[in-house]
Amino acid sequence: MRRRDFLTSSAGALATLTLPGLSLAQSDRPRITDIKVYRMGTLGETGIMESAWAPGRPYMRRIGGGTVTEIFTDQGISGIAPGLSAGGLNRMRQLLLGQDPFDNELLGHQMRYTNGAANNWRDVGCVEIALWDIVGKVAGQPLYKLWGAYQDRVPAYASMIQLSTPEERAEQALRMQEEGWQGMKIRLHHLDMSEDIRTVEMARRAVGENFAIMTDANQAQSSGIWQPGIQWDYKRALDTARALNDYDTYWLEEPLRRYDYAGLAELNRATDITLAGGENNQGVQEFVDIIERGIYDILQPEILVTEGVQGLRAVAALGLAHHKQVIPHHGGGQLGTIAQLHLIGTWPHCPWIEIMNDPPISPYTNGFAIFENPPQVDAEGFMAMPQEAGLGVELRRDLILED
Ligand SMILES: [Mg+2]
Repeated sequence: MRRRDFLTSSAGALATLTLPGLSLAQSDRPRITDIKVYRMGTLGETGIMESAWAPGRPYMRRIGGGTVTEIFTDQGISGIAPGLSAGGLNRMRQLLLGQDPFDNELLGHQMRYTNGAANNWRDVGCVEIALWDIVGKVAGQPLYKLWGAYQDRVPAYASMIQLSTPEERAEQALRMQEEGWQGMKIRLHHLDMSEDIRTVEMARRAVGENFAIMTDANQAQSSGIWQPGIQWDYKRALDTARALNDYDTYWLEEPLRRYDYAGLAELNRATDITLAGGENNQGVQEFVDIIERGIYDILQPEILVTEGVQGLRAVAALGLAHHKQVIPHHGGGQLGTIAQLHLIGTWPHCPWIEIMNDPPISPYTNGFAIFENPPQVDAEGFMAMPQEAGLGVELRRDLILED
């Protein structure tokens, strides 16, 4: 073979080297062709429940439902994510159509920092999740493997939704334990502190030693009306933190307002209990402050609040460097939770996934009913990372109502 022929054929071989489904040649890069947002149909109602953090606003819980974003490419592969806001869809179309979904660092930067492109960080997180779903599908790998796997499954803790009575929560804890769950999170929202403590005490008595009990005061958020229900002051937080120590409480979450950094840091110094929080903190910079000021022992970033996939990976790196556990907030919906499940699969410092599960009215299976192949909590209380490519879940297309 003459040298020129050899070079030509080598170049030809390179040009046709393919990943599953796609060419590597620059001219054949996939391009984003459309973005749609669907409303998903419901399969039934399971009852009315009032969230502990939003007293006075009970609503019907349903099987399925919610909204989903789908980003399409010219090569037949699409990615899904939680539903974008109605206002964000057109802006994202302007920014993303014609772009390469693999350029997600560049696109993420543009979405965050270009004035007028997208001022809604939740929408940025949604787009990033869908772009990564595409990348995983092109590579033919589940995302946690693509990013670098650490664990194939993680214990799920059942995150309670309603306040309920101490007796009922103790029964619930026992049921969870019998089903295989290894831990649950109890809401601390009684007007009287002694009822909060009695709830944890009764739950601990019901389940014995080998079951994690987390607690959440939800004092760092607003649900529309500024902090409905009981508002804790420093003394309530301090007294509660000290009393919880008698019942082997895994952590106390959000005991004070989000930006009361001085109070939170003082509380952490004054008590032995593990403090957790961060679900309402926006952006990586706030986690730098939280770490530097000694505010939380466990960081709980949320993918749709803390700058999306890139933001969560950055917070995880911060946590690792500062010897903090990073256990994300539940993820803002089914596809946020699943994206976080893959991220958790890459982290050595994340021993749990939060799953909202308060049966019989709000079991986690309600939301996951929009998938053909939903993840499940197994009999040992673990949730396994999906093994299909990308996010690894398929939408039930029969439930799509509109775009
Ligand atoms: Mg919380």
